[in-house]
Amino acid sequence: MPSPMEIYKLLPKTNCGRCGEKTCMSFAFKLLSGEKKLKDCELLFDEKYSINRKKLEEMLAVVEKAKETGLVVNEDLCIGCANCVVSCPVHVEKDPYNAAVGRGIEMEEPILRIEDGVVKVINISLCRRYGKERTLCVVCRENCPTDAIAFVEEI
Ligand code: SF4
Ligand code: SF4
Ligand code: SF4
Repeated sequence: MPSPMEIYKLLPKTNCGRCGEKTCMSFAFKLLSGEKKLKDCELLFDEKYSINRKKLEEMLAVVEKAKETGLVVNEDLCIGCANCVVSCPVHVEKDPYNAAVGRGIEMEEPILRIEDGVVKVINISLCRRYGKERTLCVVCRENCPTDAIAFVEEI
């Protein structure tokens, strides 16, 4: 998967705003999450950007093909700190009185829950990496101190 910076480097970098984003960097993030398409940046279709556009098309082909992504926890690495549980934006949205302040969440079927000292995947269907509105959310993985969470790309 390309990084936002790799994508940004190939954009016109004028921050002209014609794509509906304030900056080209923000556009790069939206390209990665699938919310914007290359055609939304008219400037890229100028002759002088044709090489960059071709490179971007090749880079983003991976994103276009990416379907749902599996979330796997390496239980040997998990120390049960619950960072992933309280930082998950879906948990915060659905149970703000608990998740947002670091308490145990009370959702019936959360995405992740600590059981017997390790995190278990309970209800992956709520995860933002799934379904039609999929975004490339990485919050739980980024907040895990032991690198116990990984995403499996199904391409
Ligand atoms: S339209 Fe293109 S050049 Fe203008 S801000 Fe958006 S990505 Fe940048
Ligand atoms: S990827 Fe995002 S939505 Fe999915 S479990 Fe992790 S933090 Fe929550
Ligand atoms: S943040 Fe990492 S170590 Fe902490 S509970 Fe989640 S998976 Fe386990």
